[in-house]
Amino acid sequence: MDLADAPPALLVRRHLHLAGDWVDPADGGTIPVENPATGEIIGQVPAGTPADVDRAVAAARAAFPGWAATAPADRAAHLDRLHAALAARADEVARTVALELGTPLKLATRVQAGLPLTVLRGLVDLAARPAAEQEVGNSLVVREPVGVVGAITPWNYPLHQVVAKVAPALAAGCTVVLKPSELTPLTAYLLLDAVTEAGLPPGVVNLVPGTGPVVGEALAAHPDVDLVSFTGSTATGRRIAHLAADRIARVALELGGKSANVILADADLPTAVKVGVGNALLNSGQTCTAWTRMLVHRDRYAEALDLVAAAVAGYRLGDPFDPATRLGPLVSAAQAQRVRGHVDRALADGARLVAGGPDAPLPSRGHFVAPTVFADVHPDSALAQEEVFGPVLAVIPFADTDEAVAIANNSRYGLAGAVWSADSDAALAVARRMRTGQVDVNGAAFNPLAPFGGYKQSGLGRELGGYGVEEFTELKAIQR
Ligand code: NAD
Repeated sequence: MDLADAPPALLVRRHLHLAGDWVDPADGGTIPVENPATGEIIGQVPAGTPADVDRAVAAARAAFPGWAATAPADRAAHLDRLHAALAARADEVARTVALELGTPLKLATRVQAGLPLTVLRGLVDLAARPAAEQEVGNSLVVREPVGVVGAITPWNYPLHQVVAKVAPALAAGCTVVLKPSELTPLTAYLLLDAVTEAGLPPGVVNLVPGTGPVVGEALAAHPDVDLVSFTGSTATGRRIAHLAADRIARVALELGGKSANVILADADLPTAVKVGVGNALLNSGQTCTAWTRMLVHRDRYAEALDLVAAAVAGYRLGDPFDPATRLGPLVSAAQAQRVRGHVDRALADGARLVAGGPDAPLPSRGHFVAPTVFADVHPDSALAQEEVFGPVLAVIPFADTDEAVAIANNSRYGLAGAVWSADSDAALAVARRMRTGQVDVNGAAFNPLAPFGGYKQSGLGRELGGYGVEEFTELKAIQR
């Protein structure tokens, strides 16, 4: 489909999802949804209110005892049906994400629609297992679901971020109120369509769309929400932690990153650079785990910069529905403006422009920023320290492994990272020294069952797999 020739009909959603029904919101406010590739309004959802949050939390609370008492095998059967209902919508999910976020359709199909299905599949199996119990001396230690979960999610992977919370929460026996990002709410509606089709018990998953300051704050501050599971910026995570602290509610925070890709002198450089550039530019750089700092041994630095420039030249910007497009727009005009500000600041700080930059050609409309690479980036500079959340890569040289580790750890973040070496023991040794929640050695595959989360200001707690299910539990010790 060529968006310029055939703008889609408005995708209008009028309801909240509460206690198993599509219901009217408390008042008639709406939020427009934009196609960032064109700037056109393509849809609309209700702007929820604190009164809507109250109703949703009450529905989740009412559903909690029944869902918590449901046998693991039955919960797994529900999740299995949810998986089937979502799989039946995979094409619609990919198209919706391409429309409201701008992810190129091919990538949207593989990652935006495919990854949540993989994650959910793994959770079906985990949900079937009864929570592990342990004898410790004269204690029986049991795990119980924490209760009602408030899930607040961002726009960059609009279904994955939701499934990464909702599926493990349900597997643990919790009930959920979901507030998706106001920039990409239409994808979340597809999940609720699947929840309805799968026949999950009423109130187990509830949806209140709306803005962060209104619906997000009401959910985070709600006295009957037991755990707030949040993915988004570190600034918002800090605010949510403050709100939850007032009532000593638990929080799980998946926040920002500034991850280092450490390329040692003996690495397979063409592969390390190609994969590294692909990782940094994935989803137009709007990926929390993006390896946005490429650290290269001085002996290979010049060679690496040539390879980086050649790799970036292959990323064609354009219409997300055009199969030739490799990079879509940024999610919004504000996000594009923020990213351009980071580029200007890096130039002012003396970084050397290797590709892209403010004068690179762009499509005539839409919130595009050219893929941009800077070399000789000082490890303390703003570009090396601040999360850009756009297609901007900082390349930094190092003299030896100790310096590489020091630069990698010179960050207030610690979410992800990578290390490349022909010597896998040397690579593993560096991986162990990196203060970060995930490290990929020599381009190893993403593992959807591995714990995911950050050190330092990248967050609190872990998502995905068995550790992700444990996040939604309380421990009880019964002495006998
Ligand atoms: P954001 O923090 O602006 O918004 C995230 C969510 O929080 C949205 O639903 C928003 O409406 C809501 N929100 C905003 N203000 C709120 C408030 N005061 N109270 C309650 N809720 C509020 O983040 P974003 O712009 O949507 O996403 C980009 C950020 O998310 C980046 O910093 C990125 O690194 C981070 N991120 C982290 C991960 C991870 O797993 N660690 C994954 C994806 C994105």
